[in-house]
Amino acid sequence: MNSIYIHIPFCQSRCIYCDFYSTTHAQSMMASYVQALIREMSRRKHYIECSRVNTLYIGGGTPSLLPAELLSAIFEAIHSNFTLTPDAEVTIEANPDDINNDWLKNISQTPINRISIGTQTFDDQILNFIGRRHNAKQTIKAVDACKQAGITNISLDLISSLPGQTMQHWQKDVDLALSLGITHLSAYTLSYEEGTKLYQMLINGDIKETDEELSRQMYYHLLNTTEKAGFQQYEISNFSLPGQHSRHNSCYWQGTPYLGLGAGAHSYDGIRTRRANLPNIKAYINATDDVPHDNEILNDNELYNEFVMTRLRTTLGIPLDKLTANDRQYCLNIANPYIEKKLLSVKNNHLHLTKEGIFISNDIISDLMRS
Ligand code: SF4
Repeated sequence: MNSIYIHIPFCQSRCIYCDFYSTTHAQSMMASYVQALIREMSRRKHYIECSRVNTLYIGGGTPSLLPAELLSAIFEAIHSNFTLTPDAEVTIEANPDDINNDWLKNISQTPINRISIGTQTFDDQILNFIGRRHNAKQTIKAVDACKQAGITNISLDLISSLPGQTMQHWQKDVDLALSLGITHLSAYTLSYEEGTKLYQMLINGDIKETDEELSRQMYYHLLNTTEKAGFQQYEISNFSLPGQHSRHNSCYWQGTPYLGLGAGAHSYDGIRTRRANLPNIKAYINATDDVPHDNEILNDNELYNEFVMTRLRTTLGIPLDKLTANDRQYCLNIANPYIEKKLLSVKNNHLHLTKEGIFISNDIISDLMRS
């Protein structure tokens, strides 16, 4: 597998929970940013096997803000530097209120065959509170418009445990999402990230974190409802109809190489080197040589930790035969008490989280990691 991620760090407004790298003040720089992306693409294409790219993901930020001519310039550069395999999965993230017939017409001129829509919830009051610029009706219309335009591979993002969100809200969110004829659902439990407005509100006592028991019930409702709808869970927060899992995101959990382009984008060589482009649009645009970045070469312990952390998030789990004898022994010693409590289980030589274990996965994963 060879994958490309392209980061578009522009947003029209800031959602109060978000800590992704993006700016609301620099849309006038979009054209020069895309030129810089094209330069980086050509300079770094050999980071992966450029003659065989299986997945391409345009994320952000808000890539659906890109004007048609800039999106088309990105794809021209993709075609001159890389070869997408005939069955390549090509995804773009979109805000529901950016999806209309004109936008979809532009998309149809590109190889994009999958749209990931930032829904978060169908409750307009909560959407407004968290700073989203769309409403529930716009999401429903957006999904319908995508299907009318012939795009059938559609993913929605939902967030649970949002402030003010009740079990009834959550049931409605999951039911409505699944009723729209989508193929993929990503459902994350809200996390309060330092530096966000939401985190500050929590610290100031303006809002309260959702009670743990309610969060647990929300998660179990999600597991049961998606299963009844024929969706398969393939990662802690990701569900799809059979065969429709995100091949791009799976590459992050399977440790295959990917080239990350753009300010703040990350790359991995599939061996032991991670690279992070610095999150600085101006420095990115102005770079005359390679764009500013940091490289991190993982040592054996870090490689083991990454392996455990990424594989345990998947339903398949950790393939024990891929660990060295020492690492396997270490891992199983720590895992045994969890196996006895039925929070972890071993099947077909893979160590995986059970339904009960998923809920405390962060604790289990951090225990299994070497310090
Ligand atoms: S639109 Fe997406 S990237 Fe932009 S602020 Fe909101 S959540 Fe963050």
